[in-house]
Amino acid sequence: MLPVITNFFETYNTYFQPIFFLIAWVFLGLLLSTLITSLKDIKKRGEIMHKIPCSQCQYFTNNYRLKCTLQPLIANTELAIDCSDFRSKESL
Ligand code: SF4
Repeated sequence: MLPVITNFFETYNTYFQPIFFLIAWVFLGLLLSTLITSLKDIKKRGEIMHKIPCSQCQYFTNNYRLKCTLQPLIANTELAIDCSDFRSKESL
């Protein structure tokens, strides 16, 4: 079976060259597209994470067992972005 396949590809190699070339460029394009999409997602995610105010809040304990004394369930999550209990450390 294998000699039949190799013989087939050797015979029609010149016809397959453009197809292989096209497939290689399609894969390269997909790779670059995925890379660009991933970088955009990372940037977008980073912007959202930087909006979380907990590290600047006076109720933030910086202890993984109890991150916040008022809102422990939402501390350091996206739900804390508009937290009504936020008090700046600088206002102490
Ligand atoms: S009170 Fe709100 S903003 Fe402050 S640490 Fe707790 S969850 Fe974060």
